[in-house]
Amino acid sequence: MIRSPFFWKLFGGFTLVALLGIVVTGQLVSRWLETDLEASIREDLGREALLIRELARPALAGGDAASLQRQIARIAPGTETRLTVIREDGVVLAESDEDPATMDNHASRPEVAEARRSGRGSAVRFSRTIAATMVYVAVAVDQGGVRIGYTRAGLPVAAVASRLDGLRDIVVVAGVVATLLALGAGFWIASRVTGRLAVLTGAAERLASGDVSVRIPTGANERDEIGRLAGAFSVMTRALAERVATVEDDRRTLRAVLGSMAEGVLAVDADMSVLHMNDTAATLFGADVVRSVGEPIWEVARVAGVGEAVEETLAAGGQVQRELSVDVAGATRTLELLASPLRDGEGRVAGAVVVLHDQTDLRRLETVRSDFVANVSHELKTPITAIRGLIETIVDDREMPDETRDRFLSKIQNQSIRLSLLVTDLLTLARLESAAGLPDLEPIDLRTVVNTSVDHFRVDAADRGLTLEVEVPSDRVDVLGDQDALGLVVNNLVDNALKYTPEGGRVSVALRTDDGAAEIAVRDTGVGIAREHHDRVFERFYRVDKARSRELGGTGLGLSIVKHVCKAHGGSVTVESAPAAGSVFAVRLPRRET
Ligand code: ADP
Repeated sequence: MIRSPFFWKLFGGFTLVALLGIVVTGQLVSRWLETDLEASIREDLGREALLIRELARPALAGGDAASLQRQIARIAPGTETRLTVIREDGVVLAESDEDPATMDNHASRPEVAEARRSGRGSAVRFSRTIAATMVYVAVAVDQGGVRIGYTRAGLPVAAVASRLDGLRDIVVVAGVVATLLALGAGFWIASRVTGRLAVLTGAAERLASGDVSVRIPTGANERDEIGRLAGAFSVMTRALAERVATVEDDRRTLRAVLGSMAEGVLAVDADMSVLHMNDTAATLFGADVVRSVGEPIWEVARVAGVGEAVEETLAAGGQVQRELSVDVAGATRTLELLASPLRDGEGRVAGAVVVLHDQTDLRRLETVRSDFVANVSHELKTPITAIRGLIETIVDDREMPDETRDRFLSKIQNQSIRLSLLVTDLLTLARLESAAGLPDLEPIDLRTVVNTSVDHFRVDAADRGLTLEVEVPSDRVDVLGDQDALGLVVNNLVDNALKYTPEGGRVSVALRTDDGAAEIAVRDTGVGIAREHHDRVFERFYRVDKARSRELGGTGLGLSIVKHVCKAHGGSVTVESAPAAGSVFAVRLPRRET
């Protein structure tokens, strides 16, 4: 506080005013005291002159002047006062300090002259007689209406001055005490005011530096201006804190909304510096969200086309659409970019918002769909073309031997069975993929499904020279499911196992349970599948060996149906296999809570 310039201004000002007040008051008081003292001295002297008037009257009327002189000489000592008795003609009859015989005629002395005129006179002047400055008061003595003389009392000014000095000392002491008190009071008031202002200043500085949590302790003097200022400041701080909190909340919400968006969002200002970027955009551009803010867009998005699109939007003030190819984590992704201008309150372009829509999956789906249509057409065309060719040949060749015709008809039959299988599988897939999916699932015992399916293939397995084994638990294995669909799953897996296992091999179907799940494992000792095909065998029409699959009457849709059914039951299907080492297809389904 001692270092506060405001404190010194306040304290200095206060001290100056107090000192001026004290000095002026001291001066006035001492002047007044002087006047008052002089008046009372003149009064006293007048009274003394009056007192000796009666004493002097006989001598003035012509009586014994010598006895008066003795009396006067006796009274005066010890009183500092000089007493004089003057006859009307100015002759001094008696005098306390001098011999009257040696004294001048006093008729023209100012105080005597004044007393002659008005009955009483006073003067301050140098006395030649006693060589000192004196205060005199003279009063006239009358007898029977006739003026007979004057009595006079005088006091040396030195005596008056010493009394005055005494009084001045008191005034000075009082002034010094008052000054000290004023300095003390000034220091206290200045330090108190400065202290309270320092609290406010400190709080204002913290607020200015962005700390809205500052609070001002409200003192007892809440009613004065500083108290009210502190109160207003507190209200303002609270309002500001609330507003800042609201803005923060809004910003957090906006960040959360933008952060959770699947689209990449990026905002830039008019200088093309990044204002905001969400996580998706950061991932697509391989940038860091925090470090990118404030950086130029071409530094952040090192992808051809982004900077140009933003530049175009800022220049034209309209939307710009682009398609970009971006390498994200080693994979090429197709992005649709939409840059829109951001406008300020006056409608000027103040920046741009870039929205990036990852189209990769959509494009892939489109490709998958068109591939699927092409595949289906191709798959259907093959048997139809074959059937048509065979029929045309039979029709054209009327002479065809019965044996050949039968062979042809048998081929037509095979092709139409294949066509029928294909259409059935396609319909099954379409049903599974449709919104309706499976009918309502009901509790079923998986042992029945597995046993029925295995029984269905027993003859087929024997014909192919294969061993078909089944292993099911003795207790029920209940799942919530669709009996037909799950039957299709086991049928497809067992059918594949039999198809792709050479004569003499073994196919085993095992149903097991562990906590919460049921597992159907279809194991064979067949040709196996190389690792790179493991994921793809579940795709529609994907075959490891096309020719062999066709030859074996496969549609290429079996595993894709298995996968769909498992998914619809909340389960999964996996494959473990290696070429020539056989395969294990395992289906896991959640067990029904009992
Ligand atoms: P397909 O009707 O051709 O059998 P799938 O969808 O059932 O069609 O199977 C896809 C491909 O997976 C098959 O063409 C075959 O190459 C391979 N595959 C399926 N099961 C087995 C298996 N048990 N052993 C070896 N390869 C298999």
